[in-house]
Amino acid sequence: MKLTLLNEQETELLGAELWRVLPEKCLVFLHGDLGAGKTTLTRGVLRAAGHKGAVKSPTYTLVEEYTLADNRHFFHFDLYRLKDPEELEWIGITDYLAQQSLCFIEWPVQGKGFLPEPDVEISLQTVDDGRSVEIKVHAQNLVNQLTVNWKNKDILL
Ligand code: ADP
Ligand code: MG
Repeated sequence: MKLTLLNEQETELLGAELWRVLPEKCLVFLHGDLGAGKTTLTRGVLRAAGHKGAVKSPTYTLVEEYTLADNRHFFHFDLYRLKDPEELEWIGITDYLAQQSLCFIEWPVQGKGFLPEPDVEISLQTVDDGRSVEIKVHAQNLVNQLTVNWKNKDILL
């Protein structure tokens, strides 16, 4: 499924829609170059979930952890600066992913071999002044439920 996001607000809005439809436990990979909007999309999810504080890009810390509405957990990974995918083992990646949490991972290619298959993959690309986004849902059990409302049209992801 492909959408065009005309500005930063629309990227955040898509994040808010995702918060509405994604299940409590879900692994999401975010693809796209630096500046494509991966962190902006994640911020949209967190804002919709009621997070009031800053949304820092976890470029140096690798992971930022949030407790959200209804006591739901959210992990935001940014693996851009990961030197060796093995580092994921040292930070206990399997423990993170085993939890009942929504997990967004920027630069998942950096963790190749140490990450499981994602439930959802989102690819962002700069097009003119805006962004194009492609969403692929891999988890069969999610497919039928995932419909976002985008500009008053229900779109099946
Ligand atoms: P990434 O995490 O992919 O490196 P960021 O989300 O940190 O990217 O930065 C993306 C930049 O692009 C921000 O300056 C943001 O304001 C801008 N941006 C996000 N979405 C859009 C959009 N749909 N159209 C134009 N600019 C956008
Ligand atoms: Mg980022």
